[in-house]
Amino acid sequence: MKKALITGITGQDGSYLADLLLSKGYKVYGLKRRTATENYENVKHIKDEIDFLSGDLRDLTSLTEAVKIAKPDEVYNLAAQSYVGDSWKQPIYTGEVTGLGVTNMLEAIRLSNLNARFYQASSSEMFGKVVETPQTEKTPFYPRSPYGVAKVYGHWITVNYRESFNLFACSGILFNHESPRRGIEFVTRKVTDAVAKIKLGIQNELRLGNLDAKRDWGFAGDYVEAMWKMLQQDDPDDYVIATGETHTVKEWVQTAFNYVGLKWENYVIADPKFFRPAEVDLLIGNPQKAKGQLDWEPKVSFKNLIEMMVEEDLKRNSKK
Ligand code: GDP
Repeated sequence: MKKALITGITGQDGSYLADLLLSKGYKVYGLKRRTATENYENVKHIKDEIDFLSGDLRDLTSLTEAVKIAKPDEVYNLAAQSYVGDSWKQPIYTGEVTGLGVTNMLEAIRLSNLNARFYQASSSEMFGKVVETPQTEKTPFYPRSPYGVAKVYGHWITVNYRESFNLFACSGILFNHESPRRGIEFVTRKVTDAVAKIKLGIQNELRLGNLDAKRDWGFAGDYVEAMWKMLQQDDPDDYVIATGETHTVKEWVQTAFNYVGLKWENYVIADPKFFRPAEVDLLIGNPQKAKGQLDWEPKVSFKNLIEMMVEEDLKRNSKK
């Protein structure tokens, strides 16, 4: 039986990856931070099948201990301070967790002599103020937020450990990927949740920032398959994972409101509070390398993704 250690197990990606690995017969260990209020929402359906280990990416001792207990064949580093907007409010914390935390995890693996394979959750935010369109594995980075800067560090330290110590370390440069399990602070889920609440009569407006930003949005459930596939190859490498399509925030908003038969212009209010000090205007990834080498393709379309999320939020909010 293969064993996997997932950091960030209670997040969107961690929970989908745990679903996938359990379905493949893996023993799954999940690293969890100690918090005053526990949040198992995304993993409540598989809670009994996961071995939770407490730890923090800032604390090497806890990672060493987790690796010692799990003896993993594969480590997926999905934990991070992952919200771009908050990374300006907590730039040092973001750097410690999202950046230096990767080195701590790599060190825990290297010092264990276990030969565990390593996946680093890199991000399209590293492309930031893009210097090339569409973005590929070879596009230079130009991050635009403390989060993006920290992810660039995490990416390069992963490449460096592969080249320095011959670790099987892969960096997946994932473009935005969403689902009903997405955190409410991200624009996608904020919109689908609000649309559901407006439709159900429990909210009457939606305050948003920049509607012109363009993103390449895919379904998180499709994207975790790519993570797993990277670690099953003969050689470690880096891959862009994206749909190859881009849409504005406004299109996301329109599609979500349309689905429930409402006009978005009647509910959306521009609020300067949600504009960012520096913006990423356009992201669109080229997933050709992943298609060719990993035989990976996204399955859920932009429209289907939005409808899936609105449906789920309608269900959730009508239960309340
Ligand atoms: P990101 O690509 O990781 O930053 O994902 P987000 O979902 O947080 O943001 C996507 C885009 O939506 C960014 O360009 C934001 O500026 C824009 N946006 C517009 N209004 C909002 C809002 O109210 N909340 C968030 N999170 N983003 C917003």
